[in-house]
Amino acid sequence: MIRCTTVEHYQSLYPRLAAPIGFVPTLGGLHEGHLALIRRARAENATVVVSVYLNPTQFNNPDDLATYPADLDEDIRLLENEKVDVLWMPSHEEMYPEGLKTRTDWWPGRLAEVLEGQYRPGHFEGVITVVRRLFDIIRPHRAYFGMKDYQQLKIVQRLAADLYPGLEIVPVPTVRDSDGLALSSRNRRLSPAGRRTAAHLPRTLHSARRRLLQGDPVSAVLEEARRDLQRHGIEVEYFELVDAETLEPVRRILPGNYLLCTAVYVEGVRLIDNVPVAIK
Ligand code: AMP
Repeated sequence: MIRCTTVEHYQSLYPRLAAPIGFVPTLGGLHEGHLALIRRARAENATVVVSVYLNPTQFNNPDDLATYPADLDEDIRLLENEKVDVLWMPSHEEMYPEGLKTRTDWWPGRLAEVLEGQYRPGHFEGVITVVRRLFDIIRPHRAYFGMKDYQQLKIVQRLAADLYPGLEIVPVPTVRDSDGLALSSRNRRLSPAGRRTAAHLPRTLHSARRRLLQGDPVSAVLEEARRDLQRHGIEVEYFELVDAETLEPVRRILPGNYLLCTAVYVEGVRLIDNVPVAIK
């Protein structure tokens, strides 16, 4: 695996990288969820590039950034195991030559302003800025994004359609632990008791989904889900049913594709998750 830390070095490698190039961007703190993206990229491309870059501009909460689990040696060991060709692990100076500023000259509107956009001001400005910079440097043919961060996936799909013709965005299903909790680097910050509490999140999503499929009224289902989570000591930021394309909240459902999505705090750790709801 070639470790690459400068744009100059990557540009010198690029002519020798066999096409197609599959790219997996990460913040580090790698787990089986990241590895699912990498394995998919490995299966579908001649070259696999993975980035490990903890992007400061997408963290609206400085404590979250300061406590974000990072273990570069362990990440490198995992990436070598997966036969990754190039690890892109740049400095802030390489990624932000003009300082840690975000750019909004491309903006998807409401899609980045609802849900996470509403509760994490500045987050998607940072995500869009870093993803554009990564795509510009790496120049991949395919890029892999997890459905756990569904809103991010939708925004990146629209970004690619607008600015990166020929780049295919590949969605990868959420990888879960045996009790259903979506894998996340932040899960490592939970105590064993907090970890057990967090398992109520996927259970609540699934029971809400079941009730919606049965035809129970949306607002009653959502309110009960929020109450259930709170009863288990989980602080709910949002728990919504949204249109799967626009991500706008819906109150009454017709046949179509929806998503139940939620952000909560357990022991001060922010967790997000979602499940699709297809109404026939
Ligand atoms: P992160 O390092 O958290 O920014 O995640 C890097 C990529 O891995 C993003 O596309 C995430 O959506 C994806 N990812 C994170 N956790 C999971 C998971 N449990 N299952 C599938 N993909 C994931």
